[in-house]
Amino acid sequence: MANSHVLVVGSSNTDMIVKMDRIPRPGETILGGEFLTAAGGKGANQAVAAARAGGRVTFIARVGKDMFGEQAIAGFASEGINVEHVIRDPASPTGVALIFVGRDGENSIAVASGANGKLSSADVLNARGAFAGASVLMMQLETPLETIQTAAELAAQAGLRVILNPAPAQPLPDCLLRHISILTPNETESEFFTGLKVDSTAAAGEAASKLIARHVQTVVITLGGRGAFVADSSTRQLVPGFNVEPVDTTAAGDTFNGALAVALAEGQQLVQAVRFANAAGAISVTRIGAQPSVPQREEIEQFLASH
Ligand code: ADP
Repeated sequence: MANSHVLVVGSSNTDMIVKMDRIPRPGETILGGEFLTAAGGKGANQAVAAARAGGRVTFIARVGKDMFGEQAIAGFASEGINVEHVIRDPASPTGVALIFVGRDGENSIAVASGANGKLSSADVLNARGAFAGASVLMMQLETPLETIQTAAELAAQAGLRVILNPAPAQPLPDCLLRHISILTPNETESEFFTGLKVDSTAAAGEAASKLIARHVQTVVITLGGRGAFVADSSTRQLVPGFNVEPVDTTAAGDTFNGALAVALAEGQQLVQAVRFANAAGAISVTRIGAQPSVPQREEIEQFLASH
């Protein structure tokens, strides 16, 4: 059996969600929304997605020494995630995300990073023992770039595959990209990195070529309901998405990434792994919330068997 140990370095937030007819414009107040809280943050979502998809997961993160942080850690532990390297920051609060969800399933999100902004290279180096036992490192861009660079270098030395979900998009130096095995931007992020509007399969192919030219080994561009475009030295193809009725697209990308990490850690081939991730992403958009919408391994397998 392949080593399905996935290491996740990233953010943990408490999401506060308001579900309403439409997302308010600046200066506007809309009454009548429904409110709920949920565990979130791209790192935490991806860690949970990987755990539910069947991976053995270790999470390296920082939360506040507060109620939200304690709830987050208890939540990770209940998912079977190793929380040994989730640090309680004495000086910064747990990250918070305020999320509006419109009736059409689109969302708008404001994040106060708090303790996530304090996750340091030293934190990653203190957790270096965890790198030895893992086969995939998964990261996003909600924690400091210097920390991400340190983790990528450590992973490269230890022979791990490094997946970077470049969200939210920010300029990335080539010295980081050259340590990335698989970059997983969505359409908006692809446009940010390449200047190309990704509105067709052909455009996704062009954007992928531009990213590969920056020494990323493999590019997987997620295309919402259309699925994902995969490109590396031997493959260039659309892996089609699944036809479902979306109610909330929050964390579709996170669910996709967590599932992708596990499938690759298990030794699945890239296209097969992306199909597995497409199924996980499709299930997640049929449910509200971030982590509450993430499917279990069994559900993903049943979904794949019936589609
Ligand atoms: P993000 O959430 O980062 O914007 P995408 O919208 O591209 O990312 O979604 C990530 C993945 O989730 C897609 O590649 C696809 O597999 C799945 N997905 C997203 N939206 C839908 C949808 N409407 N129908 C089916 N699958 C979807």
